[in-house]
Amino acid sequence: MTRPRLPGRRTALAALLCAVTAATLTSCATERPDRPGVVVTTDILGDITREIAGDEAEVTVLMPTGTDPHSFGVSAPQAARLEQADLVVHNGLGLEENVQHHVRAAEDDGVPVLAVAPAVDPIDHRGGDGAGQPDPHFWTDPQRVRTAVTLIADRIAADVEGVDPGRVRDNAARYGRDIDQLGSEMRTAFGALPAERRRLVTDHHVFGYLAQRFGFTVVGAVIPGGSTLASPSASDLKSLADAIRAADVPAVFTGAAQPDRLARVLRDETGLGVSVVPLYTESLTGPDGGAPTYLAMMRANTRAITAALTSR
Ligand SMILES: [Zn+2]
Repeated sequence: MTRPRLPGRRTALAALLCAVTAATLTSCATERPDRPGVVVTTDILGDITREIAGDEAEVTVLMPTGTDPHSFGVSAPQAARLEQADLVVHNGLGLEENVQHHVRAAEDDGVPVLAVAPAVDPIDHRGGDGAGQPDPHFWTDPQRVRTAVTLIADRIAADVEGVDPGRVRDNAARYGRDIDQLGSEMRTAFGALPAERRRLVTDHHVFGYLAQRFGFTVVGAVIPGGSTLASPSASDLKSLADAIRAADVPAVFTGAAQPDRLARVLRDETGLGVSVVPLYTESLTGPDGGAPTYLAMMRANTRAITAALTSR
């Protein structure tokens, strides 16, 4: 669907900003206010979109790195940025709960919006609170991300005025090959695990897509995390210990901090000797962390899962 374009809307805004700030800024040219703008809600989708946009468009990511996409909110200037975007890219399956109404408002206002997750053959959550609801965490399956790359490239090429569509498609083809490479690395690594070892005991149902793609079973569990770890409830520990025993796994996986401490509490309180392995689940890290990009995040998780399930 094409939106009735407001010719010069962005240019007029940029000119206005330049006029307003000319007194304090030395140059508006270095800011490239004329460069088209794509606004992306989450940092993982943001990294993917930047690879595709390259130098063709300015990509603004609303979610601060390392925060929870389920709970982050946006500031008033960020909401205004959404309204002025040439294209908004978001997950679209309820992941960024607190941002949805801003995205909807922008869309109602005629801003082109791409909801990625509904367009990559989503699956439903299997268990837990969200059972039967569509699962937004599609990025744990590189093949679906490959599909997303094409969708995002097509929309940037079609909707964002002033980009060179050929360059955008070239970027997408190059990055798509990187994703293919990632997928074949994951297939090799997980394929080396015997089928009975492919069980993930994990707290948050982030890995449903990875499980489906690579033949894992996800065993849900309440894993006491971060701040509550000082005094995890006896029933939480017991149900986690039961899940670990039933699944007969050497390790559990979590996005929580202080994994060693939880392993110690489990050993002391329930007599279970398992390792607690932290994974990157919902967001990237800063440049000095272990998951500064989508590709790095997936490789780090693949290494951690494979190593933990191989040990025993
Ligand atoms: Zn989540």
